[in-house]
Order: sequence, then structure tokens, then C-alpha cells
Amino acid sequence: MHELALSSAIVNTVCKHAEGRRVTTVSLRVGKLRQVIPDTLEFYFGFVARDTVCEGARLEQELIEARLRCRPCAREWDIEIPAFRCPTCGGSEVEIAAGDEFEVESIEVEEATCIASR
Ligand SMILES: [Zn+2]
Repeated sequence: MHELALSSAIVNTVCKHAEGRRVTTVSLRVGKLRQVIPDTLEFYFGFVARDTVCEGARLEQELIEARLRCRPCAREWDIEIPAFRCPTCGGSEVEIAAGDEFEVESIEVEEATCIASR
């Protein structure tokens, strides 16, 4: 049900930016640490988008690999390596460098002329 809440957040954000124009495509950046199931997100998006400017819009999801970063030396590595110590300096002061994204990257809307003629 995590995906339902995320879908509502997407639709709210996009509707705000669309300013009444019909949305054709919504592009998302989703970090793998978010553990979002793309098909489930798409399903709930379609459901939540009903009766909004997002109805019928295509949802594009760009999955971002999870990466960690060592704060002192700035080395980054993929989280597949089962170590929370920096491979370069051995330090343990590490942070998530990528993989916890969940953001609307861009939206596409219909031409403004379609709106003006209404
Ligand atoms: Zn380091």
C-alpha cells in the first residue's frame, strides 16, 4: 500500500505544476532503496489519476542504483558490495549517495493552444 501513498503524492505534485493543463507523461526518478514495485506504482497511479489532469498520462520510471559515499574521502560505491566501510580509506563514516530518490523529474502537458480554444 506504500505505492498508493506515493501515487497520491505524485498526482498532487503534478496537478500543482500542470496548472489545469492535461498531462501526457510523468517522468519519475525512483531510487532502489525505496523498494517501489514499478508495476504496482503504475497501477495505483492510474487509479489515483482518475478525474484529474493526470488521467491517462504515461508514467515513466527511471530506477536509480543504490550507492554509498564515504564522507571523509568522497569515494562512492554500489551497495551490492556488502560493506558499510569505505573500500578506499576503510572509514565507517558513510552516507547514502544514491538510491533513496523519489521525485518527479519532469512532466509533459498538451500544447497550450488546446487549452486556449476551450
Ligand atoms: Zn573513504
